[in-house]
Amino acid sequence: MTHYHIVKNTPGYMPFNDPYAVRTKTEAIAALRDEKRFMQDSDYEGSYRFEGNARNLSYWVTEPDREHDLGVIIQATECNDTSDDCREQLEGE
Ligand SMILES: [Zn+2]
Repeated sequence: MTHYHIVKNTPGYMPFNDPYAVRTKTEAIAALRDEKRFMQDSDYEGSYRFEGNARNLSYWVTEPDREHDLGVIIQATECNDTSDDCREQLEGE
């Protein structure tokens, strides 16, 4: 069954979040908006810049004022696997 994995990471690095999965695109969009809001709420200096759109299933987050900023991507990836890993991520939501 189709589902979406929600992952937040700096490209090439391990995810910051415990990856989880949701069942529908609507839930994936909502999850990305929640992740964005979470980052905004913790951004006391207002230094994050968000590009992209939850409807396109990804945000690209940068901190222009930070030296050597590698950026963060928050994305939902469509998946059709039925592996144990996928099932655990779906049940963990
Ligand atoms: Zn999966």
